[in-house]
Amino acid sequence: MPEKFLVFAAEKISKVGLDLLRDTGKVELVTAEDERAKNPDALLPHIDALIVRSATKVNADYLRKCERLKVVGRAGVGVDNIDVEAATSRGILVMNTPGGNTISTAEQALALMFAISRKTAHAHASVAAGKWDRKSFEGVELYGKKLSIIGMGRIGSEVARRAIALGMRVTAYDPYMPMSRARALQVELAQTVEELLPEADYITLHTPLTESTRNILNAKTLTLCKKGVRIVNCARGGLIDEAALADALKSGHVAAAGLDVFEVEPLPADSPLRSAPNVTFTPHLGASTEEAQENVGVEVAEEIRDYLVSGIVRNAVNMPSLDAATLNVLRPYLELGRRLGRLLSQLAEPHTERLTAVYHGTITQHTTAPVTRAVLEGFLRDAAGPEMNQVNVMRFAERLGLTVSDTKLSEPCDFSELMSVEVSRGDKVYSVAATFFGGQPRIVRLNGQAIEAATEGNLLVIENRDRPGIVGFLGQLLARHNLNIANMTLSRTQPGGTALSIFQLDAAPDKSVLAELLQEKDISSAKLIVL
Ligand code: NAD
Repeated sequence: MPEKFLVFAAEKISKVGLDLLRDTGKVELVTAEDERAKNPDALLPHIDALIVRSATKVNADYLRKCERLKVVGRAGVGVDNIDVEAATSRGILVMNTPGGNTISTAEQALALMFAISRKTAHAHASVAAGKWDRKSFEGVELYGKKLSIIGMGRIGSEVARRAIALGMRVTAYDPYMPMSRARALQVELAQTVEELLPEADYITLHTPLTESTRNILNAKTLTLCKKGVRIVNCARGGLIDEAALADALKSGHVAAAGLDVFEVEPLPADSPLRSAPNVTFTPHLGASTEEAQENVGVEVAEEIRDYLVSGIVRNAVNMPSLDAATLNVLRPYLELGRRLGRLLSQLAEPHTERLTAVYHGTITQHTTAPVTRAVLEGFLRDAAGPEMNQVNVMRFAERLGLTVSDTKLSEPCDFSELMSVEVSRGDKVYSVAATFFGGQPRIVRLNGQAIEAATEGNLLVIENRDRPGIVGFLGQLLARHNLNIANMTLSRTQPGGTALSIFQLDAAPDKSVLAELLQEKDISSAKLIVL
């Protein structure tokens, strides 16, 4: 360990944070105001850690100059100003501070809920224009109203606590949240977003922007809402179809909207939202409070201190580097793990409480922690935004309240290599096990039933009563929808018992095909898994 680590705070961060670093006695600090900061070419080759906000462009050139750099801390969430790939390839850890602005953003959501209920911004504009119009600005109370929260992570949970304190009735939709955590927060959980919407007086969004959340409020889902619903978005632009929202505001179906984030920022001059009535805009101010700025400064300093002094990694946004030999051994397991996680995320019902990985064979001679993280990464891919990865996925799972464990078993099993993953909620259990045949990964057990299937493509998984003719029925139905079968595999518990089939299809069937399959009385389950 060097005598002192040289830390360069290239932008202004909280004094409390800087003192926290100095107090370790192990850090020499250079701040943006220091004389040494004026000569980066002399300074950068010697720094061990770099702290930035959003102004410093930490690109590949910048990183090349930092010969000793071990860690970059971003005081804030977005890492657009940091070339994370270049940092990763140089073995430099990049950390951000996702928690520091939670309360500020939750309060911004509530501020917008109040503002759109009492028409505060519009009433202000009217008085400022010299009028004294009290008739146009009658409002509504939040008390007693139903608030539907989409996304119950850090911010959603804080909004829920505050809304309950205001006397609102809170329901939420978050398929990744265990029931036990919802109960602890005294929040009712809806099973689908469609179930959540019709009851809502207010809707507030707090999810990342992913494939499954993009335009989660769109022309179709907005029509499911009660007339007069009020909508707040302090999460990400892209969660709401802005043209559809503008139409719904114009027709009066949506009574009001409070928007802090937009698909394109700054909000374009020709955005249909600008001419929609009853919208209160703020220019992405969720995290803009003195406290949030202070918090992220303190959080980044704590992260840098813990990493330099104790080697503890928190909120890293890039991959940890495994040594090349270990990576070579683990690579196929990492990929398989990700796929098994992905498979279970589509097979299992929502609100998983526990995930367990069990390893047999050669892999037990190595560290399995990265493989378990890869399983989780696959399982939670849709729950988190693009910032989730191998490094921070455990923390993400922890925050959700998901219990994760893994075990290496040395006793012999039917396969020389076997990786099994199980997810459960109460006594509802879903499991998958896979091995390698000639280096190729194959699923060998699904929900405890022996089967053999590929780990890629569009897999249609069907459970049915074992009876003559069912395979022909399935083949014909798929053919009618022009769905070509690349591969199929069958298994059953016993003659006449429960049969399980996996069809690998050239194209993914749409929901109506699954619904048609379920109309056959002997088919109990039909699920599409895309790997
Ligand atoms: P978080 O990761 O703690 O929580 C996100 C939650 O969304 C998780 O519980 C996850 O399970 C849930 N989720 C994922 N996919 C879902 C889906 N399809 N349906 C329902 N729920 C789903 O994140 P957070 O810190 O609470 O942040 C929430 C959002 O707020 C993020 O998009 C973040 O970028 C944004 N944010 C905005 C500002 C701002 O300035 N306006 C500031 C901070 C954060």
